Amino acid sequence: MEKIEAKRRIVLVPVPAQGHVTPILQLGKALNLKGFSITVAQGQFNQVSSSSQGFSGFQFITIPGSLPESEFERLGPIEFLLEFNKKSQAGFKDCISQLLLQQGNDIACIIYDEFMYFCEAAAKEFKLPSVIFSTTSAANQVSRCVLSKLNAGKFLIDMEDHDVQDKVVQNLHPLRYKDLPTSGMGPLDRFFELCREVVNKRTASTIIINTVSCLESSSLLWLEQELGFPMYHIGPLHITASPPCSLLEEDRSCIEWLNKQKPRSVLYISMGTVGHMETKEVLEMAWGLCNSNQLFLWVIRPGPILGFNGIESLPEEVSKMVSERGYFVTRAPQIEVLAHPSVGGFWSHCGWNSTLESIVEGVPMICRPFQGEQKLNAMYIESVWKIGFQMEGEVERGEVERAVKRLIVDEEGVGMRGRASGLKEKVKASVRSGGSSFYALNELVKYLKTK
Ligand code: UDP
Repeated sequence: MEKIEAKRRIVLVPVPAQGHVTPILQLGKALNLKGFSITVAQGQFNQVSSSSQGFSGFQFITIPGSLPESEFERLGPIEFLLEFNKKSQAGFKDCISQLLLQQGNDIACIIYDEFMYFCEAAAKEFKLPSVIFSTTSAANQVSRCVLSKLNAGKFLIDMEDHDVQDKVVQNLHPLRYKDLPTSGMGPLDRFFELCREVVNKRTASTIIINTVSCLESSSLLWLEQELGFPMYHIGPLHITASPPCSLLEEDRSCIEWLNKQKPRSVLYISMGTVGHMETKEVLEMAWGLCNSNQLFLWVIRPGPILGFNGIESLPEEVSKMVSERGYFVTRAPQIEVLAHPSVGGFWSHCGWNSTLESIVEGVPMICRPFQGEQKLNAMYIESVWKIGFQMEGEVERGEVERAVKRLIVDEEGVGMRGRASGLKEKVKASVRSGGSSFYALNELVKYLKTK
């Protein structure tokens, strides 16, 4: 009898943003190493190509009709995602239909970023298995499940009451109503609508999540009960399956600069790939950093700070001071920087990738989140894992100076570093043979091979 070969091709669909592209490609790499062929179906911008280092065997295709980058700037993230899903559905069906012809029906599964729920229509039409991939924390998913059941107007009124704000959500200690990631998300009714779309699993059979059970066991347990199926928590993917893939060129000169500094003497500062800052805040930060007398490596992307064109545009006395103690780059090889012995702390906006990367290197953090999900991560860093603290309120030079000394110089910072080292060992153990993420990845592979 003719042997039926297991299907081998996985179609991955990322959100076109660095913080989403990186982990889904790392997942692709991990599955590729386990014998699967990978096709990446991407939007029109922030594209990766097969010439990118580490992804030479991958096939990259563009979804026709998806929105251009200018629409992201015009609509903002929430409207953009809602619209992107509407506009990409037909084009993605065409992509899948062509792929099926080209690949002789050899598609084992479509794995899509949780925000790319338009993929479900194609999965349904062509009767293909689909799996959701979450690039954010389990606590964030729990929050979205909770928010998806609430009415935006009533929520706003309820939240005016301090007792409600401080109340723990559905026995989900330590998550309080005020921690639910709603701030900075634009009109709440539209954000809640997106939460409902994302929480609706349609015909997807399971969820892969870039987290580790030792970091978020109670959220993972809650989610499995809520969703009624097991999830595959296989993170942190950057250690399971590097290489990272940078959409922008990294400035490696900072590694040479770090090589010249003393152990744990440098504060690394990066606010992620999307957030915006005011020039006034940058100036206050620069003053506070200089007054703290500590060394720093600061990533300042071109563009996100209104009226700020790099270190040269700082007033002369500030620019002289910062160039004595600091080093600036527009893009750093972040994972390598965090792993460098000279780095003693990370001032971060607390994106989930940055949070995981810092934990894996045992680096304590100053948390300065911009919006919702980042604030939730900051709450975990400060109150659950106790490996950093939040800097709230306006950025002011005295506060900055105190925060930097607290992390890099004071005893309190030593305690945080100790706990960060402990967590690092647990997380690293989870991806080694016998660890929870190692086990989950193997189970995922077995599962995909039955598709
Ligand atoms: N990153 C980097 N170099 C930089 C700034 C960022 O390599 O100079 C990477 C970082 O390592 C992380 C990603 O960009 O993997 C940012 O993702 P995160 O979830 O932390 O934040 P987002 O940018 O999505 O808000």
